[in-house]
Amino acid sequence: MIKKRIGISYTRTNFHFYWNWFSPEDLRNDLELVELSFEKMNSHEIPTCDGFVLTGGIDIEPSLYNLESGYPHAPQFYQPERDLFEKEIYEFSQLHRLPVLGICRGMQLVNTLQGGRLIQDLGQFNEIHKKEETDKEHGISVMSKTLMSEIVEEGTGYVNSAHHQAIHRNDLGRNLLANAHSIRDDETIEGLEFLEKEGRGFLLCVQWHPERMRDKLENPFSKKIKERFIKEIRQVNMEKINMFNPATEEVIATLHEDSSETIKEKFQLLRAAQVGWAAYSLSERVACIRRFFDLIEVHKDALSRTLTEEMGKPLQQSLNELNGARARIRFFLENSEKWLSVEWIDQQSATREKIEYEPLGVIANISAWNYPYLVAVNVIIPALIGGNAVFYKPSEYTMLTGMHIQKLLYQAGLPEHCFELGLGKGQVGEALLHLSLDGIFFTGSYRTGRLIAERVASRLIPCQLELGGKDPLYVMDDVEDIDQVAGAALEGVIYNSGQSCCAVERIYVHRKIYEPFVKSYLSQLKKLKVGDPLEKGIDVGPLSRKAQVDFLLEQIEDAIQKGARLLHGGKRIPGKGYFIEPAVLTDVHHGMRIMKEESFGPVTGIQKAEDDEEALSLMQDTEYGLTAAIYSKSYERAEKLFKRINTGTVYWNCCDRVSASLPWSGRKHSGIGSSLSYQGIRAFVQPKSYHIRG
Ligand code: NAD
Repeated sequence: MIKKRIGISYTRTNFHFYWNWFSPEDLRNDLELVELSFEKMNSHEIPTCDGFVLTGGIDIEPSLYNLESGYPHAPQFYQPERDLFEKEIYEFSQLHRLPVLGICRGMQLVNTLQGGRLIQDLGQFNEIHKKEETDKEHGISVMSKTLMSEIVEEGTGYVNSAHHQAIHRNDLGRNLLANAHSIRDDETIEGLEFLEKEGRGFLLCVQWHPERMRDKLENPFSKKIKERFIKEIRQVNMEKINMFNPATEEVIATLHEDSSETIKEKFQLLRAAQVGWAAYSLSERVACIRRFFDLIEVHKDALSRTLTEEMGKPLQQSLNELNGARARIRFFLENSEKWLSVEWIDQQSATREKIEYEPLGVIANISAWNYPYLVAVNVIIPALIGGNAVFYKPSEYTMLTGMHIQKLLYQAGLPEHCFELGLGKGQVGEALLHLSLDGIFFTGSYRTGRLIAERVASRLIPCQLELGGKDPLYVMDDVEDIDQVAGAALEGVIYNSGQSCCAVERIYVHRKIYEPFVKSYLSQLKKLKVGDPLEKGIDVGPLSRKAQVDFLLEQIEDAIQKGARLLHGGKRIPGKGYFIEPAVLTDVHHGMRIMKEESFGPVTGIQKAEDDEEALSLMQDTEYGLTAAIYSKSYERAEKLFKRINTGTVYWNCCDRVSASLPWSGRKHSGIGSSLSYQGIRAFVQPKSYHIRG
């Protein structure tokens, strides 16, 4: 059973009281507690929670409610990082209408986040409220017909008190109602709830400390509040999505899925934030991305582990991906100013002329799971540097990585709401298509890409698609070192468990060297280590998606039925995890699915080619057009074929490779448009031509 989760915001003082307030009897076997900590910055846990306790602690940084420090009893230091972290919690709770219980500082925070202010120090009333050795105690009165009165079922009572700040009735935040007051000092508000509750989640805030009242087991101002909050959590009924570790099949996270309503709300936030971000200078935007670049390096061990746990690539390959992503970001850092700065075309004539590059606006990036950093970086980095706000929809298989990317961007200083996440499956991507976006950038399958292109065609917005491939590799008879070429081809097939858009998906070998090539390929294939991707020395991890194992087994079976020879592998590996033995087939032909459909796994067919002409026609016999590789001693001989191959990329004596300096583009069913290179910088801006006379 998936447990509902109560997120408790961490406080350096007395955290254990909040934690222990929820007893095993309260939690039974269907609830659990989560520490949400501004120190650990585990904001990726926020979307796993079903409700939140915002706890007490040090005063909120006064700039948050537009006042200054220097008041009596002000702390020596504030915790602005805590304020921001809890703001994120609160915003998430409001977006998803989740229950919130604000306690002491938590209540004050809710008031400020709703636009209200605080009494910075209670002055003479500290005598009643401010803690000394122990909490103070005083009577309170509850307003009738409020949520508070419905919960505690009392008109008056007594509570403990340990605060020197408070909320004045003239400074209430939007849509907040004071539901209880201190009896000895009727100015001090003791509780808040929403005034207009329709369409909002459960919210109850208290100025006292129900978690540590001396008689908390009996006093309704503790007991009943806790009971009701727990009941609200149990009643939360939202779409959640499980994330599995493909190596162990264990659930690693259960997250709230976005709905079309939350997607619309996030879009409004992006729209409003984009204007401010575009007003930053280009060099300021570049500086922000440089900090993001540094943060990836700082956190790369944790990030690579998460990546391996959620999509299954061997740990070293996760690290390689992060390094590769940083190399791409470095390219954008070093080249964006050159390609995005104002371009003076004519400064001498009577009419001067220049081009300025303006952001598109709010763009969406719907993304794939196989290289979640690399494919995201291709889009979100140049888009942000160009002054756009980005609605990023990570694949449902790599949402944790998506959340890490978001966290690090904000840590790097990206202004709030310039980058929003759409969490969930395909329907969340579909919901994005209904927004008035200024551009859509998609990485994924041909099937989804085509659907997206059709859906947005009438809007006339830029729509860039990076789709699948069935990339060929041809080995000519003049190669000098067959073992080395066979090893390179094998690497191109099995790297990332074959789940690369530009993986080698089919191999053609000149008849003169066919036998030794197959022999060498087979012997190297047999040495591969398949297993737990967290273990050192593993070459091939599990596939990321369960269904893909059956898909590959079907492709192999189809080939065997039609006369292919399975030389090695191709079986499901028993036990937990989506493992398949890497496989090679010979005696294959283009009547077999394995030579025509994208496999996206560590399997391939090797086909004999009579000569270069036949190899070319086989390489061209595909709906895709991403990359093609030729291994040969002679560049001239290879180039003759390259000129006639209809792909966005060709490789001589290499394969399965992307360079940040070169355009990455597919033809035919492999996509439309280019990312990376200067073209991938300009893809996220639009030129404005200035004619300046006089
Ligand atoms: P996919 O098409 O299944 O999903 C891609 C994204 O689209 C996901 O975020 C998914 O949730 C979303 N989506 C699904 N249905 C949708 C809908 N109806 N409307 C809007 N969004 C929807 O692809 P995948 O399995 O995540 O990725 C694998 C594919 O991506 C392979 O074909 C691979 O070759 C390709 N790919 C291409 C490149 C490239 O650079 N050309 C890079 C990586 C992956």
